Order: sequence, then C-alpha cells, then structure tokens
Amino acid sequence: MTTPGADAVCPRCGQRFHCGACDAAPCACTTVRLDAATLAALRERWSACLCRECLVALAHGEPIERPAS
Ligand SMILES: [Zn+2]
Repeated sequence: MTTPGADAVCPRCGQRFHCGACDAAPCACTTVRLDAATLAALRERWSACLCRECLVALAHGEPIERPAS
C-alpha cells in the first residue's frame, strides 16, 4: 500500500513514515520542539523530513547521527 507523495522514508532511521508537509494537518515537525541549533544541524545534514520518532528522540537529546547498532 503506497501513496506517492504522501509517504516518505526517514533519512535517519530508514523507516517509512507519513510526511505531513503536504497535508492540511500540520506535519509532525511542527509539534516537536527542537532548539535552533538542532534544527540547523538537521537542515545541514538532510533536506528531507525525519519521522516523528526521530524528531522526538532528537528533542530528548539523542545524537543527530543515529548510533550504529
Ligand atoms: Zn526516523
């Protein structure tokens, strides 16, 4: 089940997620508070959205680069 243009792949963890940037509803990134430095680092590294899970993780102080597991 795919909906072109509606789903995205998180560049940080590789999981598929729904990007709300094209939706009427606000994107997850508008509900997660990240400090300006983190946001700037994100934009430097990736042009795509991250999934909400990663945004929340970053908001809790996890490293931008996900530790190798
Ligand atoms: Zn992610």
